[in-house]
Amino acid sequence: MQRTTVIRGGIVLDQRGRRRSELRLADGHIVEVSESIDPGVNDDVVDARGCIIVPGLVDLQAHLREPGHGHIDSIETGTAAAAQGGITALVSMPNTSPCIDEPDLVRFVNERANALGRCDVMSSAAMSVGRCGDRPSDIEALYAAGARLFTDDGTAVMDAAVVRSVMERVATLPGAYVGQHAEDEALIADGHINEGLISERLGIRGRPALAEAPVGARDLLLAELTGARYHVLHASCATTLELVAWSRARGVDVTVEVTPQHLSYTEEALSDGDALFKMNPPLRTAADQAALRCALADGAIDAIATDHAPHSDERKELPLDQAAPGMTGLETSLAAALTDVVEPGFASFETIIAAMTGQPARIAGLDQWGHGGPLKPGAPANLAIVDAGEVWTVDPAGLASRSSNNPYRGRQLRGRVVHTFLRGSQTWSTRERLEPARS
Ligand SMILES: [Zn+2]
Repeated sequence: MQRTTVIRGGIVLDQRGRRRSELRLADGHIVEVSESIDPGVNDDVVDARGCIIVPGLVDLQAHLREPGHGHIDSIETGTAAAAQGGITALVSMPNTSPCIDEPDLVRFVNERANALGRCDVMSSAAMSVGRCGDRPSDIEALYAAGARLFTDDGTAVMDAAVVRSVMERVATLPGAYVGQHAEDEALIADGHINEGLISERLGIRGRPALAEAPVGARDLLLAELTGARYHVLHASCATTLELVAWSRARGVDVTVEVTPQHLSYTEEALSDGDALFKMNPPLRTAADQAALRCALADGAIDAIATDHAPHSDERKELPLDQAAPGMTGLETSLAAALTDVVEPGFASFETIIAAMTGQPARIAGLDQWGHGGPLKPGAPANLAIVDAGEVWTVDPAGLASRSSNNPYRGRQLRGRVVHTFLRGSQTWSTRERLEPARS
């Protein structure tokens, strides 16, 4: 029988607000929430004094690299990284090898994560067979296997008829949604970073922010036509946000995510050619970043998603035009948002938590798996305990990801996940868990 855990002395923050509460966990659930709980002699006690207790975080976009690239990172290391970041559920991306375009592959990813027990994983599925973009995959079969997000992420599907066909089918499936890596292939050509001052100075081919518009606008109109739900993956520029606002005004069911790195950094991070900051879509201008921060604060952006993308040092420590695009972030997403968004006053702590718990859970349907809160009696005990004042230095050696391409490495961040619980089991802790029960 699972032991009873009592979490004492913390402040609970979820969609019901902020209040002083103690929690008792048993059999994977929250069984008691009250201002004060006296633990029994056999209870495990977690000291949450000075900490905020939030629903387990939910990440809408993580590349776990398995199947096919387990030497770079894996479902095992990726879900351990998630737990370290306070994440209890995530949506994994389908650009693996083979790509996730068969029901058995969806099941493989979900079941592998489930067996490891560190973080629930809902695999997305490729929109097109082989992620080739020319033929829709078997959407209904992939849905039956558990996929809700249909995307070829890594690349956009450029054939509008394929997107339309996928959307027509998605529109009939409750909870299903379509997402795109919205960069027009012809416009990005072989660009590597944002097209602008830095690409010009470095003499390297850029990817214009404009490349997001043709794919985004087309998809939003197709979503309007078909009634499909649409999710904008990793929005990076002001124009995309303007298109979303326009589409929402026309009644389209569209949601938007932003990555912590687009909130923290601009193209300036690449001014000395450091490929650690190379990603797609690229880090953009300060004006784009300001628009993203504003949209997050005013609710136009629904979620913060990591786009966690592990790469080996060999593929990352190369000149900009050869290095792999992408950065890791599962372990650091909350700390990064607290440090670079909340602390400077761009958005509130409450906004960040909502964008990392309840809102993404609803988008992916992970609320139906018991994620995203609220923290109330009877709910599965999926939660994270955050020391909002703790300052720590990001050292890849101390992160669970096997790869070290974390863009916050070497930086001091304020705010740290000190405990994570998945269905009452502790999946991460920076601290000694057991304390003598109060007599
Ligand atoms: Zn992408």
